[in-house]
Amino acid sequence: MADTDPVIEIRDLHKAYGALEVIKGVDIVARRGDVVSLIGSSGSGKSTILRCANLLEDSQQGDILFKGEPVKWRGTGHGRHPADPAQVLRIRTNLSMVFQQFNLWAHMTILQNVMEAPVTVLGRPRAEVEKAARAYLDKVGIADKADAFPAQLSGGQQQRAAIARALAMEPEALLFDEPTSALDPELEQEVVKVIKALAEEGRTMLVVTHDMRMAADISNHVVFLHEGRIEEQGPPDSIFGSPQTERLKGFLSATL
Ligand code: ADP
Ligand code: MG
Repeated sequence: MADTDPVIEIRDLHKAYGALEVIKGVDIVARRGDVVSLIGSSGSGKSTILRCANLLEDSQQGDILFKGEPVKWRGTGHGRHPADPAQVLRIRTNLSMVFQQFNLWAHMTILQNVMEAPVTVLGRPRAEVEKAARAYLDKVGIADKADAFPAQLSGGQQQRAAIARALAMEPEALLFDEPTSALDPELEQEVVKVIKALAEEGRTMLVVTHDMRMAADISNHVVFLHEGRIEEQGPPDSIFGSPQTERLKGFLSATL
């Protein structure tokens, strides 16, 4: 596969909750090695786009492609759902999501959290998965927490465990939904550092964030959403250095 091949393509995506249309025709492409950040006010549709991309949410119109392979649908409008469960599983396991609230399993150790999906969903051998899981915990700097339970870790450590868990699926891309929003400022940086290192090693990522400094630092493309539409997009230098629209100017001056 060439370096520039798309991993995730979202074309003319429309999504409504009942009568409330929240995504109104959005196009986003993340090619191999791209870090695309989604920014915008609360309620602008950032999380919904991520959840539609990995098929956690249905959408009513538009295409979603994973490595060039379009999602197969049956039905139309609010009756539209993915048609092929094997395809859904393939896409979901290849687009690992990291959530604001970590979502670790409280009754499992950190190591068990990281090993669970590769063993049960992918059916990979335990010994091999454990070796890889320990390496990912080491990579995010919490190898010594393997046998601890989530409640014994700080928020920053829990989020790094969640990142190790996402990496253990060996996904094609990582989807982050406000990964630092639940953290105290002093813990935020340890997570930013891990995400930045992943960006630098060429991982394909879609990152929803309120942290403009991180977005400027790690992204090669920034998408500014407003009420379910892309209001402005471009490289971080333009988005943060010379915003064009009044809405983006206003958003940035309110957040920076
Ligand atoms: P963001 O992540 O940018 O804050 P969201 O994608 O969470 O925005 O939400 C976009 C819009 O969709 C908001 O108006 C929100 O209230 C609405 N919304 C999100 N989830 C649901 C849901 N499960 N049911 C109804 N409306 C929802
Ligand atoms: Mg959100």
